[in-house]
Amino acid sequence: MTKDQLLTRRRVLTAGAVAAVGAAGTAALLTTGQEPAPAAPPAAGPPAHRALKPSAYRLEPLTGYGPPRTAAHGRTLVRHEPLLRVNGRGRTMVLTFDDGPDPRYTPDILKTLREHDVRAMFFVCGEMAVHNKDLLAEMTEDGHVVGNHTWSHPLLTRLGRAEIRSQMERTSEVVEDACGEAPVWFRAPYGAWNRAAFQIGADLGMEPLAWTVDTLDWMTPGTRSIVDRVERGAAPGVVVLSHDAGGDRSQSVRALRDYLPELLDSGYHVTVPTRHYT
Ligand SMILES: [Zn+2]
Repeated sequence: MTKDQLLTRRRVLTAGAVAAVGAAGTAALLTTGQEPAPAAPPAAGPPAHRALKPSAYRLEPLTGYGPPRTAAHGRTLVRHEPLLRVNGRGRTMVLTFDDGPDPRYTPDILKTLREHDVRAMFFVCGEMAVHNKDLLAEMTEDGHVVGNHTWSHPLLTRLGRAEIRSQMERTSEVVEDACGEAPVWFRAPYGAWNRAAFQIGADLGMEPLAWTVDTLDWMTPGTRSIVDRVERGAAPGVVVLSHDAGGDRSQSVRALRDYLPELLDSGYHVTVPTRHYT
């Protein structure tokens, strides 16, 4: 079984778990920015994890952003919800790429970003990052922000505190080793956050960032469809979710080449949030 198949299998299994948890009504999915579980074929069952459309959660109250969230003594405060967007002054937008790095796709994404002199965020998984530290170093060199997306992309709401901590801590260590600095942002796989994840993330000095616009690129809907979702969702402060790993991401790579120049032509400042995005 190839690595891809293993990844797909793992994610299909986890997708089932998300649906089951959701159906039971006991999920600790605190955020409106729920990441759909990748790779579940439509025939596998009802797409319970896709109940929230991007347009739905864009209308949610914009919780959790505003003044700096660091206490006077320098510790990161514990949030109860992830950030969904950033301050939109100056028509700012943020592009995020999750689950990588993958040497088949990440270099092309880095190349496109470089060609347009644009900075983005990469929420990496430790198990991918540990074998691709050169790509993490390249991200840092280019001014991109490397965030923590756990070690092996589990559903955190199913794990105990010790496991959650291990998932996040080990990944932060790899990032620090490759980039020279520990990550200051994290994102829960599938957008499934819980109190422990917020607390441990804050302990490790990280802010939780969800997203505003989901490209649904993991479903490989076609390059044009990904481009359309980004362009329809474009607005000041928006955070866009895409993937540079976890399956065939050639559509995500091609889509970026199309939508990035269009966003820039429309006057968007595509950049990364500062630690306190003020
Ligand atoms: Zn992910």
